[in-house]
Amino acid sequence: MKYISTRGNSPEVGFIDAILAGLAPDGGLYVPKEWPRLDEDVLAKIDDLPYYEVAAIVLKSFAGDDLSLETARAICAQAYDKQWHDNDIVPSREIAPNTYLMELFHGPSLAFKDVAMQMIGALFEYCLDRRGEKLSVICATSGDTGGAAVEAFKNKKNIELFVLMPDGRVSEVQKRFMTASGGDNVHALILDGDFDGAQTLLKGLFADKEFVKEVKLAPVNSVNFARIIAQCVYFLKSAQVLGKKSKIDYVVPTGNFGDALSGWVAKKLGANIGMINIANNANNALAIAMKTGHFQIGESSVATISPAMDIQIPSNFERVMYELANGDEKSRAQTIVDIYASLKAKHQFDIAPDTLAQIGKEFQSSYADDETTRIAVNDCHEKTNEVICPHTAVGWDAIKNCRKDNPIILLATAHPAKFPEAIVEILGINPDLPNFVSDLFDRPEKYEKLALNENIIKNYIRSKI
Ligand SMILES: *Cc1c(COP(=O)(O)O)cnc(C)c1O
Repeated sequence: MKYISTRGNSPEVGFIDAILAGLAPDGGLYVPKEWPRLDEDVLAKIDDLPYYEVAAIVLKSFAGDDLSLETARAICAQAYDKQWHDNDIVPSREIAPNTYLMELFHGPSLAFKDVAMQMIGALFEYCLDRRGEKLSVICATSGDTGGAAVEAFKNKKNIELFVLMPDGRVSEVQKRFMTASGGDNVHALILDGDFDGAQTLLKGLFADKEFVKEVKLAPVNSVNFARIIAQCVYFLKSAQVLGKKSKIDYVVPTGNFGDALSGWVAKKLGANIGMINIANNANNALAIAMKTGHFQIGESSVATISPAMDIQIPSNFERVMYELANGDEKSRAQTIVDIYASLKAKHQFDIAPDTLAQIGKEFQSSYADDETTRIAVNDCHEKTNEVICPHTAVGWDAIKNCRKDNPIILLATAHPAKFPEAIVEILGINPDLPNFVSDLFDRPEKYEKLALNENIIKNYIRSKI
């Protein structure tokens, strides 16, 4: 399986090179040169297979000759083992007529990011062992990626993990997952700025090829296609289980567009999926662009009660624009290069009308500000007795704008106990942390506060490897 860059100016690479590099050298994102599709007989049996087996099939189909099916199965068996607190890994329940809640938060850090990160942890360990290499794994986090990465990589040999989080923009529980893991190879960095600032700094680090080589830097943000592969498994599995009579529509609380893209990728694999409804919070540049074709961002993101979605520039939207743009590989890559040049210079870009029409066939969008989100937490609790986290609530609000032709699965992206401040304020209920993390606030913390400055971060990383 070959991977190419959305910006068209990087050599083709194999699967393992694509995921260990994460970002293409030209600053683009890797996509498969040809998209795999599962055979009908494989699709027909997904329903009966345990989660890790489905994951192994998906992983193998994107890895091609780089991994055997046995190896993929061993990696996925390790990833979806006893650190999961539900036997179904991602259980779905009907909470209202034809409306299902898929709980993605039964992993070790209580957010959907665990589903992918656990697979990546096992996958990276295998690849590094096989090659006898070491890696500096890095992520910028709006809250949950960091905790999931810490749980996936702590105490793994051959890996140092660097987590960049924006100061004051993550909940106390989220922060503790990053600072109180006890892993010697975990470096939690609190930066003065917002998530977009941290993500831009990260891109800056990767633009310095010498530095990347020197410290062997790899990102595990959803720019890394491995995240997308792992996440499309739960779309595939749930669509095959619940979509026997009709297609399934999804509602996906969205920040960086990684999860929403994963749904689209599952559809390409052959999953019985209809519409993917993306739900933004007050940082609604993407939701508006999907309706109007005009993408425009402000000076900085707005802080909301769904902080993991406080993102203005959804990095994975690049992959969809690339795939759905008109023309051959070369002209589509040029479209992407032009878009990002415009974004850099003018904080805006326009999506070509025919591309927008293609996007509209696969995705719909809506958004909710904090007030609407609070109402949605309440509304869901009143109607279904479920306590949902504020991110999931942004999705609950979106349901009212969705077509109702097909059953809807709403992705519950985090455990409500990860955001107790908001839930107490809205519902007057204090959601309990599950037992396995009830000592989170008693564990010692370890972190550094650093300026949002490329050189400072580079020197810090150098000093730790
Ligand atoms: C990361 C995250 C999101 C957004 O997911 P993207 O893949 O970035 O769109 C939504 N909710 C929660 C709880 C998250 O942690």
